Amino acid sequence: MPRVAIIGAGLAGLSTAVFLDHLSRARQRPVDLTVFEESNRPGGRIRTFTRDGYAWELGPESMLAGRESLNVLLSLAGIPDLVEYARPEAKRRWILRDGALRQLPSSPAELASTQALSKRGLLRAAAGLAAAPLKAREDISVDAWFRRVLGPEATDMLIQPFVSGIHAGDSERLSFAASFPRLAPLTEGRLALLRRMARKKQGEESGVNAIPYPPATKIKRGMISFRGGLETLPRSLAEALEGCIRYSTRITWVRKNDAGKFILATLSGEELEYDVVIMALPANAAAEMMAELLPRSLDKLAGINFIPVATAHLAYTRQQVEHPLDGFGFLNPPREKRPFLGALFSSELFAGRAPRGNVSIRVFLGGANDPGRVDLLDDKIIELAHGELRGLLGVRGEPAATHVHRWREALPAYELGHLDRVGAVEEEAARHWGLYFTGFSYRGIGMPDVIDDAWRTACRTAALLKW
Ligand SMILES: Cc1cc2nc3c(=O)[nH]c(=O)nc-3n(C[C@H](O)[C@H](O)[C@H](O)COP(=O)(O)OP(=O)(O)OC[C@H]3O[C@@H](n4cnc5c(N)ncnc54)[C@H](O)[C@@H]3O)c2cc1C
Repeated sequence: MPRVAIIGAGLAGLSTAVFLDHLSRARQRPVDLTVFEESNRPGGRIRTFTRDGYAWELGPESMLAGRESLNVLLSLAGIPDLVEYARPEAKRRWILRDGALRQLPSSPAELASTQALSKRGLLRAAAGLAAAPLKAREDISVDAWFRRVLGPEATDMLIQPFVSGIHAGDSERLSFAASFPRLAPLTEGRLALLRRMARKKQGEESGVNAIPYPPATKIKRGMISFRGGLETLPRSLAEALEGCIRYSTRITWVRKNDAGKFILATLSGEELEYDVVIMALPANAAAEMMAELLPRSLDKLAGINFIPVATAHLAYTRQQVEHPLDGFGFLNPPREKRPFLGALFSSELFAGRAPRGNVSIRVFLGGANDPGRVDLLDDKIIELAHGELRGLLGVRGEPAATHVHRWREALPAYELGHLDRVGAVEEEAARHWGLYFTGFSYRGIGMPDVIDDAWRTACRTAALLKW
């Protein structure tokens, strides 16, 4: 029976394990599967903290449903019934412009009446969209691409806050092709060619495309979470894996022995032998244990930088907040020079996240443009966030409850050259039969991307084992 080790029980490791377990059962090919996790809980960055009737997300707040891999994952975990959709009002978002909140258009029809852009900025963006697609021969930054297509104002007001809100990144340093893979084919040229070649190579090598998704309950497109919060997802995946997970077990290095098997060392000194190793931990943590297996591309793996983010939850009674909080939240463009990235009306997105009559607002600080802010003391962060909410949302009095969480390495930055960096790591990893890298460091930072990649990794493993 082949022995497969997955390192990391975040969403990537758990999803890969559940998919692999499914493929092994469906094809009646038993596998000895172990997931190693250094902490004592599943979920990695997905964490729901509950206190005094509040359910606060410390990592991701919600995810976008609509992809087949997610449908399959939720069906395998037995939780389609636990899916909760965000309230319809959550489509409404605001942006800070000249110190006041302006509603963003939620559809092309609303674009003409938006106050987020001036008439001139709007016309420039519309003209750019109507023009022929911009072709890029080289990797080009997010900022440069949108500046050329939509113009400076739409880039400053819509793209930069979106990028600092989602990626916490600096749009001048992030790679457009890596950060917006669905738009990237528009650029054609060298990058698109590389991408097509990589897809073809993977398909040929693994037969991935030959494995159809199993039947699953269809989860309709939309912003979702789960009853009990997002952490319900990793907890359910861990339950479905029934005893395959070894918690509180840190892997310190991975090598190969003379027989060509992988040897994993744990912090407590065990050395364990495996046929296949799936690295489902962040790139910088993976780099620490790859010195022997990836001597040439180690610096590329270690060179994927991580961005710090702090998140503060502030709870108030409903009467304390003048703003109706009838939306998702708001983003701050860097040019507004405010001390935080944006805020989510977190208690208003899904039911049951705050005691009746109370609301909770989540403020984000830090990011690539302001990393030092994450190191402020809790009291200072709360004071700063409360001060901003007072001015922007008409909050009165003091918060009834607060919580601060810091992610010193919240999100990977897909900087210029990211695709080449990942390509170099994959190329060297391919020299070792059965070594894979998955998770949000490589091919998409959002949870749906992570789940897609987990399915692909499970299929590649199944094909390798000739299931
Ligand atoms: C603040 C924040 C907000 C976000 N918001 C959203 C959002 O709204 N929507 C969305 O789709 N995505 C969001 N994301 C991204 C989302 O959280 C990630 O896509 C996803 O959780 C990454 O999963 P992962 O398994 O790749 O990594 P992780 O969750 O980091 O899991 C890696 C696991 O590996 C373990 N590990 C590390 N080193 C070792 C070792 N040596 N040995 C054993 N185990 C080890 C870790 O303990 C961890 O459990 C957000 C992320 C953050 C930080």
